Amino acid sequence: MTARRCSSNMQTVCGRFAPTPSGRMHLGNILCAMLSWLSVRAAGGRYLLRIEDLDAMRCPRTLADQIEDDLQWFGIDWDDGGSAGGEPWYQSNRFDLYGRYLEKLERKGLLYPCFCSRAELHAAQAPHRSDGTYVYAGTCRNLTPEQVAQKRRQRPPAVRVRVPDRQICLIDGCQGAYAQNLAEDCGDFILRRSDGVYGYQLAVVVDDAEMGVTEVVRGRDLLESTPRQIYLYEQLGLRAPAFYHIPLLTAPDGRRLSKRDGDLDLGVLRGRFGRPEPIIGMLAAAVGLRPTAQPVTLQELAAGFSWEQISKEDAVLPMGILQEAKTG
Ligand code: GLU
Repeated sequence: MTARRCSSNMQTVCGRFAPTPSGRMHLGNILCAMLSWLSVRAAGGRYLLRIEDLDAMRCPRTLADQIEDDLQWFGIDWDDGGSAGGEPWYQSNRFDLYGRYLEKLERKGLLYPCFCSRAELHAAQAPHRSDGTYVYAGTCRNLTPEQVAQKRRQRPPAVRVRVPDRQICLIDGCQGAYAQNLAEDCGDFILRRSDGVYGYQLAVVVDDAEMGVTEVVRGRDLLESTPRQIYLYEQLGLRAPAFYHIPLLTAPDGRRLSKRDGDLDLGVLRGRFGRPEPIIGMLAAAVGLRPTAQPVTLQELAAGFSWEQISKEDAVLPMGILQEAKTG
């Protein structure tokens, strides 16, 4: 089930787009696809499409196919992955592989079963983080074997990994230096849910390493996940890729665009603009790649692409595109 590596030469630039197909892509998703593709193509590297459908109930194959269709319409091609690469490129098909990596961590004594219910987590956890999630208080960290056996009879456990009380630092290619103390900022985190579904943090690390990915480009909202992933790379003896966390898109009133902005999904935008160049031009201007929002092709952008041009501040979309897309 292991996917083919990008290249036998691990130095070859290899990037990927890794969407979760739980809805139609919005502008933020296509910006991520665009910048990850430009970075790879400008370097003559290889580009992959991995479908992150871990929670298969929420991610039907029809939505994954729609993403492929939207990417192709936009002008983004990939060298391997998605339906063209077959089943290894869907995370829902890679649970055996994730299980083998989980065992490696188990053998290092880093894992423990967690029986806390959602309600218990909410009641027991403190402090509350700014993003609305909780630092795990370690309730199940030191259960005795007898307690574990007794609790297992009542409910299946999730699996958590112990985190160290030390700073994990990275230099992000877009956002600069970033550091977190996992014990203080996050707590022991879940690698497999009680229903058997593997956590994003483990799957993304295993897949990027197995697929030979050398650079990860994704939204700035995932920067705070990266120290957890670096910790897993370290513990699994894997080499971490370079990271580029790109600006998020906001409406002129400062509201962040998200999948809830159905009015700006690719279905509406395709219908409204009919061709990708005006959307590419608008996104390029929003992140600092071009001085104006004139229509432009991906090939033109690839010719002069460099990360130095990309602003790290969130990008405000011009009101025009929001109104045009809505009224179109
Ligand atoms: N699947 C994640 C998403 O769609 C992206 C994960 C990543 O790029 O690491 O938000």
